Amino acid sequence: MGKYCILVTGGAGYIGSHTVKELLKQGYELVVVDSLENGFENAVVGGKLVKCDLRDKEQLNQIFAENKIDGVVHFAAYASVPDSVENPAKYFDNNITGGMNLLEAMRGNGVRRIVFSSSASVYGEPQSEVTNEDHPKSPTNPYGLTKWQFEQILGAYDRAYGIKSVSLRYFCASGADPDGKIGENHDPETHVIPLAILTALGKREAFKIFGDDYPTPDGTGIRDFIHVSDLAGIHVAALKYLDNGCGTDYFNCGNKKGYSVKEIIEWVKKISGKEFKVIVEGRRPGDPARLIADSSKMSDVLGYKNQYSDLKTIIETAWEWYKKHPNGYKEK
Ligand code: NAD
Repeated sequence: MGKYCILVTGGAGYIGSHTVKELLKQGYELVVVDSLENGFENAVVGGKLVKCDLRDKEQLNQIFAENKIDGVVHFAAYASVPDSVENPAKYFDNNITGGMNLLEAMRGNGVRRIVFSSSASVYGEPQSEVTNEDHPKSPTNPYGLTKWQFEQILGAYDRAYGIKSVSLRYFCASGADPDGKIGENHDPETHVIPLAILTALGKREAFKIFGDDYPTPDGTGIRDFIHVSDLAGIHVAALKYLDNGCGTDYFNCGNKKGYSVKEIIEWVKKISGKEFKVIVEGRRPGDPARLIADSSKMSDVLGYKNQYSDLKTIIETAWEWYKKHPNGYKEK
């Protein structure tokens, strides 16, 4: 009997590549499908990498026909909120149509388990200090809408076709592989920790704080950060949950704790030993003051306990990665 084979879409991207590394460590056989539009071949540390865009139905069906796939982990998507506001059609095309092609290929080939990268953006403006899975879903941008719509599509595919899913609603993915082999490389970069680190490295002139007049202790926005290696571990736990006959279900992936933008800046300065210029600009529309996950369902039901998601480890691992790879994967 062959090994258990998982098809990972978007496995050459940031979170996908860390999950590929963890799945390989746990003994899974992998087929990694990525268009390489925003991913990197050398981020994929093993498994069979196939360059394919999910919008190419024919090639996707071919991959399913040629490999005996037991389950799917689906990361492939466009993931920039501001870009989705400017170009919603692009997001519906990739995140919904691409995802539909994947589900149809699964249905056609009898594959009945999928773990999906959802997002805290399904909730929209938080109505409570801490957000749990029952919080109303009211995405405030097209990106969040695609994630919420795809969760609902997954629900319909379970009811009609018995395809079981786990949707993981990530809060802020952050940090890098503690072994230093892989890390984050987005272009353009929009996430707060990489931006602060790139400024510390002199790759950017100044770090911009968007709003210091929020109703928070230091006036800057507060977010919940989860280490990418913990996300990788949660995906393995989610696959096991589906194997045990469970699903369809939804889990917040966070750390039940928030840090402000000013705290991030202080930690990056401390860990890097570098001073850098910080400027304050106005608030960005749609940025909530606070976004913190109640992630107890994830730890109680999936049984995963975060190991790397304290801010010190997050920033230290990210700093080590960027220090060695200031131009990301491109310089290799
Ligand atoms: P990423 O851009 O680094 O990775 C996405 C990968 O998918 C890239 O390698 C890209 O080339 C590939 N891809 C995109 N469209 C494709 C297509 N049509 N066919 C094949 N491959 C395609 O992004 P990431 O930060 O690793 O995010 C991964 C997933 O997690 C996304 O679905 C994103 O929406 C979700 N997510 C990310 C965060 C975060 O903080 N980074 C938070 C919440 C949710």
